Amino acid sequence: MPAFKMLDINLADGSSKVTDISELFERYLGGTGVGTSLLLDTPTGLDPYAPESPIIFAIGPFSSVYPVATKTVALFRSPLTGNLGESYAGGRLALAMYGAGFHVIRIVGHAEFPCYLTIDEEKVEVHRANSLWGSSALAAERMLRDHEESSYKRSIVRIGPAGERRSPIAGATVDSARHFGRLGLGGVMGSKNLKAVVVTGGRYWPIVEKAKYNDFYKKLFDAVVKSTAMKKYHDLGTAMNVVPLSRINGLPTRNFGQGFFEGASDISGESFAEKHLTQHIACAHCQTGCIHMATLRTRFNPEEHQYKTFKISYDHELIYSFGSNLSIQSPEEILQLLLLVEKQGWDAMSIGVTIAWAIDAFQAGLLNLSQNMTDGLVLNFGDASTIEKVLRRVGNGHNEFYRDLEKGSWFCSNKYGGKEFAVAFGKNEAPGYMTGLYAFLGYATGVRHSHLDSAGYSVDQKNLNENKTDVELVKGLHAEATWRMALNSLVICLFARNIYTKEAILEGLESLGIHGWDEARLMTTARRIHAMKMRYKERCGFRFDDLTLPGKLASVFTSAGKVSSDRFIQQVAAYKELTAGDMLELPDEYR
Ligand code: SF4
Repeated sequence: MPAFKMLDINLADGSSKVTDISELFERYLGGTGVGTSLLLDTPTGLDPYAPESPIIFAIGPFSSVYPVATKTVALFRSPLTGNLGESYAGGRLALAMYGAGFHVIRIVGHAEFPCYLTIDEEKVEVHRANSLWGSSALAAERMLRDHEESSYKRSIVRIGPAGERRSPIAGATVDSARHFGRLGLGGVMGSKNLKAVVVTGGRYWPIVEKAKYNDFYKKLFDAVVKSTAMKKYHDLGTAMNVVPLSRINGLPTRNFGQGFFEGASDISGESFAEKHLTQHIACAHCQTGCIHMATLRTRFNPEEHQYKTFKISYDHELIYSFGSNLSIQSPEEILQLLLLVEKQGWDAMSIGVTIAWAIDAFQAGLLNLSQNMTDGLVLNFGDASTIEKVLRRVGNGHNEFYRDLEKGSWFCSNKYGGKEFAVAFGKNEAPGYMTGLYAFLGYATGVRHSHLDSAGYSVDQKNLNENKTDVELVKGLHAEATWRMALNSLVICLFARNIYTKEAILEGLESLGIHGWDEARLMTTARRIHAMKMRYKERCGFRFDDLTLPGKLASVFTSAGKVSSDRFIQQVAAYKELTAGDMLELPDEYR
């Protein structure tokens, strides 16, 4: 294999350098493993918005070489949780980084002026972005696409106004419709005065063992296109979950007030497909094409018959956060709200759940109208037109209350009250599965407080028919969380996790000429990376003992019945014990 290279950029003076970091890839495979080791090497206690706080983009040895190894991981200190910021996006970024010749791009510093970066195989440049500053995430991409030419595929990562305002729930948008959504990468980019990063390049690594590579590639390709493993993602996509989840009481509805949504069939994957689906698109080097694009036609001049058409991506998480959880059952209204979210560049889950908190808090009398906090708006579930006004006021920074809403539900509930209504784990707003204890436990204990850390929602659903003990289930959750460190170090799309089995990964490494890996080494490395993330979180102040079940979830009836706070805390303690075992795998320098 050629060497793995890292591009370091300092925005303070525009300098850059390239380092060979093959040794880190040898130790930690790539992606999140390598990125975590680089993050752990930063000084403890750096503010997420300090110029020295890095943004690390990383891909892995399979990126752009094998099908569906399409993701890029971004690592940073999260301004939302205060600890590990880790977010994944597809699109063309992994391909562009590979083409530019960099498996890692690390950005530090604070530019003196709003800027964007261009990176290709020959040069790195910092450009003034004064005319882009203030533009929506959608407009910024259009302008950069027209302005920055390349003979190769380009990837454009940019923030919207929410990131410029350093909102800790701002994400960064990648290409047409992918996002580093969670944990505040957009705010960190904004704090660096960095509007966008444009990456391109045409380098391709020579494949040494061509016959082996071709055989393995074909096997993977057939598994992706001919088996049923990926079909559901292409067909209705994750939006197919809406109705089945509601049927088992697992679809968060009205700020997690119940799991059954009476309007589920109106906002189902089928309903979106029939009324609004206009195109499937795919990340570069993926044959599945699971990204569902809806068309929304809006009237932009109320005086005249003038219309504009937008394409907006949708999936289960977006439908939950702006549909059932706000009790909105019109796909068109959901898309209108999502369009505002896309333009501002917020994480749709975090802003949606924070608005749901505001509605509950308002109705509990905590946001007192006489204090003019909402400036006359009466907040109700199901009232899309008022929620649209709320979003616009947050975007305009209308008053202190609206400015606070883009700091997330945990911040707001600490300032205004209503902690029991803030459905956040480790300060991160909850995803769209209310299936029972293991969904909640997964959000709480996962390194990035995501449903994708350990898929607890799947543990709950399988156990509806299995009746395993809590001891067995928490072990299963922990095993999945650690195994995903290997998948995320290769930065494959997790939809292909059943194709990239241990055996397939080992064969894939061999076929690229990366020798010396066996199952034991793979598993030890995965546990080591998991432990390194936990060590980083601890250094930033995270404690398992601080985790609690959000008040609202202690009384709601989930797919698996009621979840008691005591049982939740017991299982957190059991998970903590299992993690203590991983800590034995920590490299000496992080002990
Ligand atoms: S399955 Fe979907 S998200 Fe995953 S790589 Fe393909 S298009 Fe991207």
